[in-house]
Formats: sequence, C-alpha cells, structure tokens
Amino acid sequence: MMMLIGGEWTASCSGETYEVRNPANGMPVGAAPLGNAEDVKRAVDCAHEAFKKWSGIAARERGKILFRAAQRVREMQHELAVTLTMEQGKPLKEARDEIQGFANILEYYAGISAALDDRSVSLPKGGRCIVLRRPIGVCGAIIPWNVPAIIMGWKVGPALVTGNTLVLKPATTTPLTSLSLASILKESGLPDGVLNVVTGRGASVGEEMVRSPAIRKISFTGSVETGKRVLQAASASMKRVTLELGGSDPMIVCDDADMNKAVEGAVHGRFYNCGQTCTAVKRLYVFESIAEEFVRRLKGRVECLSVGNGLDEGVDMGPLNNGAQWERIKTLVGMVKEKDEGNVVSGGKVPEGEKYKNGYFYMPTLVTDVSPGSALLKEEVFGPVLPIITVKGLDEAIELANDTRFGLGSSIWTRDIEKIRMACERLESGVTWVNQHVRLPPEVPFGGVKESGVGRENGIEAIDAYTELKSIIS
Ligand code: NAD
Repeated sequence: MMMLIGGEWTASCSGETYEVRNPANGMPVGAAPLGNAEDVKRAVDCAHEAFKKWSGIAARERGKILFRAAQRVREMQHELAVTLTMEQGKPLKEARDEIQGFANILEYYAGISAALDDRSVSLPKGGRCIVLRRPIGVCGAIIPWNVPAIIMGWKVGPALVTGNTLVLKPATTTPLTSLSLASILKESGLPDGVLNVVTGRGASVGEEMVRSPAIRKISFTGSVETGKRVLQAASASMKRVTLELGGSDPMIVCDDADMNKAVEGAVHGRFYNCGQTCTAVKRLYVFESIAEEFVRRLKGRVECLSVGNGLDEGVDMGPLNNGAQWERIKTLVGMVKEKDEGNVVSGGKVPEGEKYKNGYFYMPTLVTDVSPGSALLKEEVFGPVLPIITVKGLDEAIELANDTRFGLGSSIWTRDIEKIRMACERLESGVTWVNQHVRLPPEVPFGGVKESGVGRENGIEAIDAYTELKSIIS
C-alpha cells in the first residue's frame, strides 16, 4: 500500500518500501513505504494547509464525516479484521471486535460534536468573558502495534472532531490496518490533508514528528522508555503531550470472590491478544486461603486454550506480534527457570509442531511462588505469562500491587463492598475495575498514573486534550 499525504496515495521520498509479514507464519502480507523525515515534512505542510479550512467548519459537519466513516467501517468489518489479524496476529474474533471498537469511537466523538460550544462568563461590574474552545493545530499521533485500530480511533476521533489536523505514524509492523482505516475516512469525505499517515520507523518518522515545531501536540502510545524520549524531545518546541504508556496491572482475588468469574477474568485479562495489551492482567494476587483451588482451576482452563494462526477457526490465542517480543518473553521465562525465581506450573515454552514452525508462538504460561525481585513483577511483561502471588489479605495485596513504577489499571475481585471501597481508594492506577478487567468503552477517560503516562484519552476529557481555551474579555 502507499501512504496518505495531502489526500494523495504516495510512495516515500526515498522510494524505499518494507515488507509486512504475518507473525503466525512469516509470510508476506503486504508492503508499506519506508517514510523518512522528508515525508514527515511533506505531511506536516499538507496538514498545516488543511487546518485553515478544517478548523473553520462547524463541529457538527466534521462529526457527520466521522459518522459516515464509522458506518463504512462496520460494513467492511470482516475485510478490515482479516488485514488486522494477518499483520498483528490476534484471533479473527478479537480483530472483529477491535474494528467495531474503532467505529464505536468515531461515533462517540461524532455524537459529541453537536455539544461542543464556547462558554460565556459574566464578570463583576458588568463585564463579560467568552471562553472559546479552539483546536490546537497540526497534531501528531504515534501508535503501537498491539491494538492499532482502537488506539488510532482514540486519537483520530477527538483530534479531528475538534478541528485539528493530524499526522499519524503507525507501528512498523502494523501499517496496513491504519492505512485501510484512513482510506475509509478519505472515502467518507474527509478533506485532503486533514489526516495524513506516514509509515516507517520510530527512529526516523517518529523522531521527526516529535522534533517538528509545526506539530503543536503529540499524542504517543507505546512503551515507557520511548515515552520518556518523546517527552524530553517535545519540550524543545513546548508541545502539548499526551502519553499513554505501559502498565503492569495487578488483579486482586479475595477469598469471597466468585471463583469461576475470577478464573475467566484472569484468562481473558492475561491471554487476550496474546498478553500484549497495555491493561492486561500482568500480576495476580490471590488470598492464600483459596490460592490452591484457584491455581488448579486456572491451570485447567489455561491448558484448554487453543494456540494457533488467528485466521483459523477456534483459535483462542495467536502468536506474539514480532520477533523482538518473542525473544524477550523466552528470555524472561528462561531467567525465571535459571535463577529459580518461581515455579512454571503451565506452559513456559514454545509450542511444538509443524503449524508453529515459522511463527512467534508461545504457550500460555503460569508461574507461582514468584520471588519479589523477579523481572516478571518489576518489568512490563508484554506476552502470555502470568505471575501469581499469594497474599494473607487485602492490605498486603494492595501494598504489593502498588509496589511498581507503573499505574495504568488494576482490578479487585470480591463480593464485599468494604473491600471494593478500600481497593478503589488505595490502588494507584488510572482505572480500577471491579469484578472485571480490560474493558474500555469510548465513554471512559483513560490513562495512567506514575510512569504509565501523562494525560487522559477517551471520554469527554479527550476534548480538553485536543483544544486550547482562549478567553475574550469585554
Ligand atoms: P514502542 O514504544 O516501541 O513504539 C510505539 C510507537 O513509537 C511505534 O510507532 C514506534 O515506531 C514509535 N517510536 C519508536 N521509537 C520512537 C522515537 N524515538 N520517537 C518517536 N516514536 C518512536 O512501543 P510498542 O512496542 O510498539 O508498544 C507496546 C507498548 O505500548 C507497551 O509498553 C504497551 O503497554 C504500550 N501501550 C500503552 C497503551 C495505553 O493506552 N497506555 C495502549 C497500548 C499499548
């Protein structure tokens, strides 16, 4: 596919392309231009030009385009989901849900467009202040490969409805879904230059976007390490920044929890998207009085998960998205075994067999008796490995849950209202789920505390993140 700059499907300035490969079998699924700094400059110029008109259109008119695009995305759900599965690896059912999620987000912000207005404040001595809500200008969106459609929606929806124009950079391994969704927005009437997609590497395209003084805001979703670099580089031109970074979400299972529900929640929370979700359950704390029974049931359930190519019928878990992640997971579990930092009670290896030969597959893995200093607890484990820790009670669980530099999500599983209240108040995270984990509809403001990020996306709050207020006093 070509990339989209100023409404034109275009090659990169260098003419270079790269292959996109299916992580389930290593087969090529397409190609994308290898963009560079020059391509970013072209895109920024087009976005700057397009801003002049787009920012002056009534918000409801902008919303109508998003509505039309959402409808078209729903019509093309299957084709889009196949593209997503082929480049990302997730099971087709999850890919279909994700595409639907993208449409939901566009519709949510299209709906909000009708309510966007300015504010009037009366002042002492008969004065008046009108507070205008204005778009920021050209914005940059840098997104990861794990949930490329939803995360693109989180940025495109609020940025465009508020009158900004956008330069978007997909992750290197998942450009095709973003380009297909951009193509639908274009067909739905989005004017040329309002949304530009530049494909290529973070070190060239991404860094140039963060450097470019003409980009007034960067919304970045990715790892904490890259997020820190983005924050530092963005300061040179005093850009607005939203950073949605990594997490190490704790799930706390109390002795009075509905055990079946908690087991299902742990399976979905950890192994959905092969464990590559920012808000996946990455540490599980279970009360010691029920731990043995809980682990027995969880192990039984996990060992029934079918691992395979996401396009195949009945597959519950696909491969990891790329070789670097696959190597990291193998190394992490290898270290646990080598250093005797825990008991691998299920999985802990690459599956064997012809169908797994050329893919980045890893078995769903459970580790118990994890040592407190283990990287499984200290780092973000972005793959299908769940460390399980037993605790005496809620105080200990909360203390251990908060003992991390991350603070994205957390969950409490209990029937006791007092325990729920205590956990919701004390867990250090941007979101706490009660008897569930992971679900994030567009209405919910979302973001992290501590090193998990800066700012909020989603919900009405994202409107603030893409607008500047200007006060006019008379
Ligand atoms: P990553 O940080 O390696 O890359 C993210 C994006 O940044 C990619 O498009 C990449 O090309 C680009 N990039 C890389 N280096 C750059 C640089 N120097 N300057 C500018 N851009 C650069 O992350 P990843 O491995 O693609 O994604 C996984 C991470 O994303 C995990 O940590 C996960 O938790 C996080 N994530 C967070 C959320 C959230 O909403 N909080 C959602 C999904 C994923």
